[in-house]
Amino acid sequence: MALEEYKRKRDFKQTPEPPPKLAKGGQRRFVVQKHRASRLHYDFRLEMDGVLKSWAVPKGPSLDPADKRLAMQVEDHPVSYFDFEGIIPAGNYGAGTVMVWDVGTWEPQGDVHEMMRKGDLKFRLNGQKLKGDFALIHMKARRPGSKGTEWLLIKHRDAYDQPGYDIDKYDFSVLTKRSLKQIAGDEDSAAWKSSRKASTVGGSNKNDWLAESIAKADAKKAKATKTSSGVKAASIAAKRTTKRALSDPSGAVKKNSALRTRA
Ligand code: MN
Repeated sequence: MALEEYKRKRDFKQTPEPPPKLAKGGQRRFVVQKHRASRLHYDFRLEMDGVLKSWAVPKGPSLDPADKRLAMQVEDHPVSYFDFEGIIPAGNYGAGTVMVWDVGTWEPQGDVHEMMRKGDLKFRLNGQKLKGDFALIHMKARRPGSKGTEWLLIKHRDAYDQPGYDIDKYDFSVLTKRSLKQIAGDEDSAAWKSSRKASTVGGSNKNDWLAESIAKADAKKAKATKTSSGVKAASIAAKRTTKRALSDPSGAVKKNSALRTRA
């Protein structure tokens, strides 16, 4: 099922994100979300087959045809994620601030499934910020151990291209006009009223996922750290973090950005 991974990665008692539900009907909307998680990135999502096919684009989309933006395909998201703007609480998958950066409709330039299968998806966007023809090109995995999730997002030359496009000049939500900082400082986001309030962490079993995500982050950190002293320091820091997180999840976890997992 298309949303299994989305479901597996999240605790819906903890996150205000929408539940995994397949949508009916074949609308073709798209959304770009600006997401400050452990690293700032943009999530590019196309509505397809009742889900949002999703790519994380570290530098964000560009209207400059000279830019070839790396786009890592991530798990399908439910269509209701379309207007999700607000804060994913610390300790949860993708913890951080989410802005609805652009919305609109998209038109495939050919057979969608055929283009997806070939890894050469051509489409036209009609958004508020992004317009015109684009392509998502699946790159062949060269590195050993590569997951094969790397694509390139490229703008084609047309009436909408903008050489020298600077995405930082467009730091505002198309839903609420707020900047990412404004959204981050506004816990009671007007754009996102969830009836399912994120509850506080309870019994020890609920902390299992947290310990797991810390362990994962720690492993990544250890891999990235070349010196043995660095590894040791990272591991000690992570152990301290785990201890604190498990003993006082509501307090320490919120303040500790090291716990934020990538999404
Ligand atoms: Mn993201």
